[in-house]
Amino acid sequence: MVSKLFFLIIFVTCYISVSPECDSEQCQVQEDEEEVQNLYSKGDNVIFQQINEAFEAYTPCQNGNNCSCYLPVINADLKPFSKGIQKEMLMAIRDRGTKYQIFNHKLYREKDCLFPARCSGVEYFIKPLLEKLPDMDLIINCRDWPQINKNWGMPLAPIFSFSKTPDYLDIMYPAWSFWEGGPAISLYPTGLGKWDEHRKRLTKAADLPWDKKLKKGFFRGSRTSSERDNLILLSRDDMSLVDAQYTKNQAWKSIADTLGQEPASEVSLEEHCKYKYLFNYRGVAASFRFKHLFLCKSLVFHVGDEWKEFFYDSLKPWVHYVPVKSDASKQEIRELLEFFQRNDDLAQKIAEAGHEQIWSNLRIKDVKCYWRKLLLKYAKLLKYKVEKDKDLIPIY
Ligand code: UDP
Repeated sequence: MVSKLFFLIIFVTCYISVSPECDSEQCQVQEDEEEVQNLYSKGDNVIFQQINEAFEAYTPCQNGNNCSCYLPVINADLKPFSKGIQKEMLMAIRDRGTKYQIFNHKLYREKDCLFPARCSGVEYFIKPLLEKLPDMDLIINCRDWPQINKNWGMPLAPIFSFSKTPDYLDIMYPAWSFWEGGPAISLYPTGLGKWDEHRKRLTKAADLPWDKKLKKGFFRGSRTSSERDNLILLSRDDMSLVDAQYTKNQAWKSIADTLGQEPASEVSLEEHCKYKYLFNYRGVAASFRFKHLFLCKSLVFHVGDEWKEFFYDSLKPWVHYVPVKSDASKQEIRELLEFFQRNDDLAQKIAEAGHEQIWSNLRIKDVKCYWRKLLLKYAKLLKYKVEKDKDLIPIY
C-alpha cells in the first residue's frame, strides 16, 4: 500500500513537471520568465502587471473633428437633467455664478463679473458660436469651487463649473485659462492663459532627448493643498531623488505657508521639461498644471483621482500617467520614483503615450468643439421659452 502511494506521488510529480502542455522549448521560455519575475520584488511585479493590464485594455481615442473622446463627459454631466431644465431651477442658483444669456445670436452678461479675466476667457469661446446657437440662459461659475454637492441636499440645478469631484453635479466647461486668466504668478503676471502658445513653447522645450533629461522628480508650486506636503518633505530628505519646493502665492503670509521654509523661486513650465518625472497635485480644485506637464514628454505622476476637468477621463492611469494615491507616504512616492528609475523604457513609453494623447486631442479646436457640443446639448434641455433679460449688458 505504502509503495503504491509512493509510486503514485512520483508519477504525479513527474506528470506535473513534464506536463504535455509545454514542450521543452516552451518550458524553457516559461522558466526564463519565472526567473526574470523572481528577480523583481513583489512591489515591482504589481506595477508591471498594472501597466500590462492597462495597455492591454486600452483603445486609443482620436477626436478627429468632433471631439468625440469627450462626448461621454458631456453626456454624463447632462444626464441628471434628462427630464428637462425649468426656469425655476436656474433661478435657484442665480447667485452662485455669473448670469449669461444668448438671445437672438447675441451674448449678454450681468454687469459685474467677479473675475474679469475669467469671464473674458469664457466669452472668447462662446463668441464664435453665437451664429449657430439658439437662445439660452446660462449660469457660469467662475470661482474655483464647484457648487452643487450631492450630499448637501440642494435641489438639482444646472450650473457650469470648470472642475469638480464625483460629489458634485456641476456641468464641466473648459476652463477660461485655455485662453485667458488662470493663476497669475510672477513668471506669468497676467495669468497662465493661452493654451496654444504654451503648446508651441513646451513643444520646443520637449525637444530635449529623453536620455538628456534628469532622472529626478520635480515640482514647483504653492501650498494650495496639503496633499503636496509629503513630496516636499521627501525632497527635503533626498534632493537627488526629487526636487520639490513650495513657492509663494498671493495668499502667502509667512513661512508656515511654505511648510516652514522660505519660498523657492518660481520655475517656468519650459524648465520643468528638463526632468523625467513631473508631479501634478490638486490645488484648491483641479490644477491647471496637469495638461502642461504632458507636453514636456516627461513622465507625469498624477496624485489623487477625485478632481477633474473635462479632459481628465480621456487620460488613462498607467497608460498616460502614473497614478499616485492622494495620501501616498514619502516611502510610497520614493518606491514609485525608484521603480521608474530602474525601468527607464517603461517610463519613456508612458511619457510618450501621455504626450500623444494631449498633443493630438487637446488642441484649441477640441476645446472650441467641446463648448459647441456642450451648449447645443444643454439648450435642447431647456423646457421654457427664453425671454430677454433687460438687466444684462451686451458683450458681443
Ligand atoms: N507654476 C509654475 N512655476 C512655478 C509655480 C507655479 O509654472 O514655479 C504654475 C503651475 O504650473 C500652475 C500655476 O502656476 O499651473 C499655479 O500653481 P500653484 O501651485 O500656485 O497653484 P495650483 O493652481 O497648482 O493649485
